[in-house]
Amino acid sequence: MSCLFCRIIAGDVPSRKAYEDDTLVAFHDVNPQAPVHVLIVPRKHIATLNDLAPDDQPTVGAMVARAAALAKDLGIDARGYRTVFNCNREAGQSVFHIHLHLLGGRPMHWPPG
Ligand code: 5GP
Ligand code: ZN
Repeated sequence: MSCLFCRIIAGDVPSRKAYEDDTLVAFHDVNPQAPVHVLIVPRKHIATLNDLAPDDQPTVGAMVARAAALAKDLGIDARGYRTVFNCNREAGQSVFHIHLHLLGGRPMHWPPG
């Protein structure tokens, strides 16, 4: 299995888990860009947002809802947080298994770099 996030989901690569269920796994980013930086990933391998099938829409909805739930669990919901999907190279996607970044615990700048 060559995909890093598939290997994390399978437990072959260690990670600090924040949440998991039948559809999703969330774990702390190894190189955090904010005091809270969690990645929410579907168990199903989907390379980029461009590869979403109509059947994947409930999964993507669950990812967004889980980001909000984790923000609350981690105490950043009231202050604010950012959720980001990077798609392909110009956006900075480096792992080709879709993931939703949940970032918070510091002021965020706009526009992002
Ligand atoms: P992307 O750049 O594709 O949007 O985000 C990939 C994220 O995965 C980066 O923030 C990077 O720090 C994180 N990452 C890369 N390798 C690992 C790893 O082995 N473990 C964890 N927990 N995060 C990783
Ligand atoms: Zn994968």
